[in-house]
Order: sequence, then structure tokens, then C-alpha cells
Amino acid sequence: MKKLITLLVLLGITTAFGAQSQSRNNRICLRLGQQLVVPKPSLNPLEREGLYSKWKFIGFPADKEKRTKEILLKIKEKCPTHYLLACRGIREFHWVSNPNSPSWAYWPDKRVGLSMREYSWGGQSGGSLYALAMLHEIQHCCPKGNEGEDGASWAAFYYGKKIGTPPFLLNWTRGLSLSMGYNQSKWDKQLRIAKALNQKYIREGKYE
Ligand SMILES: [Zn+2]
Repeated sequence: MKKLITLLVLLGITTAFGAQSQSRNNRICLRLGQQLVVPKPSLNPLEREGLYSKWKFIGFPADKEKRTKEILLKIKEKCPTHYLLACRGIREFHWVSNPNSPSWAYWPDKRVGLSMREYSWGGQSGGSLYALAMLHEIQHCCPKGNEGEDGASWAAFYYGKKIGTPPFLLNWTRGLSLSMGYNQSKWDKQLRIAKALNQKYIREGKYE
């Protein structure tokens, strides 16, 4: 408001000078006026640069955290529905340093653990199986969808295809899901629910 008064005063003073100086000052005021318009922050994490700002990364060595964030950015680009699910379903990513312990998810607490076991699988550093595990654990944090082992394995198959996971890993996780009685029509239904929930959260500003 103070700025606005200053502007009005400035405009008033301008009238006192000649026409030439008035047009020059009007241009200045126009520029000042433009600066007064503060853009509203976007409630949609997909429209922001970088990663969702509320996530915490706990216990990660620097290189592992960097790789994990790279994969999350890839998920943001290639699997926006799943990325938004991660934004609303996860608060903390924990590093599991024990190579004998698997990755895990605990949705009531919005926590996910990502393990060295998957990270270094096949002699890789944060390769295909690690990305697949991330897709899998994200689905576990969707309590209104198919958050069980069957749904999580199918999610890894569905989204894994979009991020270029090798076919043998896709077949493996799809096979796991099928063996637990999951199928395409269950997934289609789950996907509709996930998309509707994402939109509801954006509308209600819950990603803030
Ligand atoms: Zn699981």
C-alpha cells in the first residue's frame, strides 16, 4: 500500500511538469507498477523447477542422494501422476546402508527407505533396479489406491516402461504382481483414482 501511495504521489507530481516529462515519468511508473504485481506461487509441484521442496533426504551419502534426486526428476518428467503421488504420500526418504536390507515404505508416517541392496544391484550405481524400487515404494505410499505388494509391483511395471527399464525387469515385476492376483483392470481403476486425487490436491492447495 505504501508503494501505491508513493506511485500516486509520483503521478501527481508528474502532472505539474510539462507533457514531455509527463510521458517519460508515466513510463517509469508503468515499470514500477509492473513490479508491484507479485506472482502467486504455483500449487502444482509439476509446474515448479526442481524437486518438491518439502521432501527430506535423511542419511544419504552425497553421491547416493544426488542419484536419487536425478531419478526423482526423471519420474517427474516421465511419470507425472506417480510423482504427484510421491509429493502427497512421502515426507522423508531414508537411506538404508545395510546391503542385506531391502528398501521399504511406511505410508502412515509418509516415510520411504531406499537401500544399498537395490542401489548397487548388478554392480550398478543407482541403476535400473534402484529406479524400479523407487517406483515400487512410491506406490506403497498411496493409501487410497492399491498400496499392497501386488499394486506396488504393477506400478513398477507400468511406470518402469516410461523411464526405460529393461524388459526383463519389467517382466519380472509384472509376473510378481500377476502371481498375487493383480491385473490390468485393477490398475486402470487405481490410475483413475490416483489422477483424481492429484487434481483434488492441486485444487485444494494441499501440495503447499
Ligand atoms: Zn513392496
